[in-house]
Amino acid sequence: MSSTIEKHVFQAEVNEVLSLVVNSLYSHREVFLRELVSNAADALDQLNFRALTDHALLGDDRELRIELIRDESAKTLTIRDNGVGMTRDELIGNLGTIARSGSKKLMQSLSAEQKKDLTLIGQFGVGFYSAFLVADSVTVVSRKAGSDETWIWESQAKGDFEIRAGERPGRGTDIVLHLKDDAAEYASEWPVREVIRKYSDYVRWPIRMQVERGEGAEKKSEWQTLNAARALWTKPKSEVTDEQHREFYKALSHDWQEPLAWTHFKVEGTHELTGLLYIPSQAPFDLVERRKGGVRLFVKRVFIMDDAQEIVPEWLRFLRGVVDSEDLPLNVSREILQKDQTTRFIKKQVVGKAIGLLEELAAEGEVEREVDGEKQKVRRYELFWAEFGKLLKEGIYHDVESRDRLAKLLRCHSSAADGWHSLADYKGRMPAAQKSIYYVAADSLAAAKASPHIEALQKRGFEVLLLTDAIDEWIVDALRSFDGVPFVSAAKGVLDLPESDAEKQANEARQKLWAPVLERAQKALASSVKEVRVTTRLTDSPACLVSEAFGMSARQARVLREAGQEVPDQQRILELNPEHPVVQKLQGLGDEAQFADWVALLHDQALLAEGALPSDPAAFRRRLAALMAKA
Ligand code: ADP
Repeated sequence: MSSTIEKHVFQAEVNEVLSLVVNSLYSHREVFLRELVSNAADALDQLNFRALTDHALLGDDRELRIELIRDESAKTLTIRDNGVGMTRDELIGNLGTIARSGSKKLMQSLSAEQKKDLTLIGQFGVGFYSAFLVADSVTVVSRKAGSDETWIWESQAKGDFEIRAGERPGRGTDIVLHLKDDAAEYASEWPVREVIRKYSDYVRWPIRMQVERGEGAEKKSEWQTLNAARALWTKPKSEVTDEQHREFYKALSHDWQEPLAWTHFKVEGTHELTGLLYIPSQAPFDLVERRKGGVRLFVKRVFIMDDAQEIVPEWLRFLRGVVDSEDLPLNVSREILQKDQTTRFIKKQVVGKAIGLLEELAAEGEVEREVDGEKQKVRRYELFWAEFGKLLKEGIYHDVESRDRLAKLLRCHSSAADGWHSLADYKGRMPAAQKSIYYVAADSLAAAKASPHIEALQKRGFEVLLLTDAIDEWIVDALRSFDGVPFVSAAKGVLDLPESDAEKQANEARQKLWAPVLERAQKALASSVKEVRVTTRLTDSPACLVSEAFGMSARQARVLREAGQEVPDQQRILELNPEHPVVQKLQGLGDEAQFADWVALLHDQALLAEGALPSDPAAFRRRLAALMAKA
């Protein structure tokens, strides 16, 4: 083995993280120990898992553990594990780059101000680098399980790190922290003991430390186990404190913030299952694109896999936690999971418990909670909705079995009042004459509120849901109705409002009166619309465009086009408001060319009202200018 020392530079994003960590005045710097112990526990989990199929891997070193070795005079603290270890390449890759593209993108996207906020960065797992909160130099000595090579990684966090060959008696990893002067206390027994008890008591592997007891000649050194070393989820629910949940969550998710809520459950009977599910307080910035989940699968306390997609549907990818099954085989693979009947059972339980937790939150009143450093009265469900509502909508779309329960958890804006409203609240407010749940979709709340399509509805006192997410119309299409009341788009089909006999007669007379104008308008607009008709939905605006009752709305078509899909051109319907003075003028316009210009302008205006551009902007400008010149 060569004894050369190789220098490697850190990836740019690592340097950014490091400079933050090194310069931070972060008041909870003791979390470095939680992060490093958590990495060590993961390394033990992985070894334990691999040893299931490769029995030789454990050798004589069968007792998996974490050891903390203090040296007060040298001011060092070493976190040692006999887990999987790292090869030379893994040391370089894992501790020199931020591998996860998500975290990398995050670093690139944060503003200088945001970068000062370590909480935000902590959320994306800079676990190992937190060592530099307390150390000015870190040495990692590692030997991969099954290999006889040991490699040393060393850095002062000044832009580069060194790699050289070294020695270690067996497999595993030592993280040696050369403590900063003002962090020297972490080489003494009590501070370390306290931090472990606070953050890592539930770590499922023993964390041991050598301590001195007795005085003078009686003085002797002994190994003590500092933690309870029992998987938190196996404890009876009543024995787990809120504080333990918070710490367990933080260690599991690498989030530095507290979870918003959690559920701890046990299922007994034909299948046995324990689970701990947490909802984070804050969504990752790439929530929607990120497909990876955060629930770990254990079988009989043995860690199996990180992101068990087979037991947690994609829409629940915001959850963090663990699921521990008594029934799956220990050597379970993804292929087995996909086929196994137990998997389906587990998934159903996880979905049921998660929805149950959300239902509890939705039913909860205001609670006091720290938001942005201040105590505030909040509804936790609203916090959840603001962060993760988009995923719940995905659930409504994809999870047919849960759809009815999820519909009750849906929150929307409404024309009734600002804020979030449930569909049940909407239904409760419906006047007797109203038979449908009306909605309008637009790119912003302001645009939805100003939409001409909802004028007549509002005049009648019918509330309208204002939908602004791109996915919303698909959700409504999937739901079709809520609690027996159908959804009706204010911008599709003929708006069938309840009318009295007198109104009916008046409408019929109007149809007759307007038939010749409609016919001329249709001829003039033959290339852009399918039909021109008298509206029932406008009161103030002269015209609007609507889509067919069944089929995509113009906005849906646009969303799909923007996503790169091919969508055939839609022929829409122009509705004219005969009460409007501009429209009334059409009756007296004899000149066909002038008439055509007018209806074209009305058509373009209807497009503008939806936030779209006139179909031919140059022609629009010309017609408008001509009209103004005449005035
Ligand atoms: P994270 O743990 O969130 O992935 P870290 O920066 O804490 O990020 O660690 C980076 C990677 O380094 C880990 O994913 C793991 O592969 C490796 N690693 C860190 N500590 C150890 C250890 N004690 N034993 C083996 N591998 C480790």
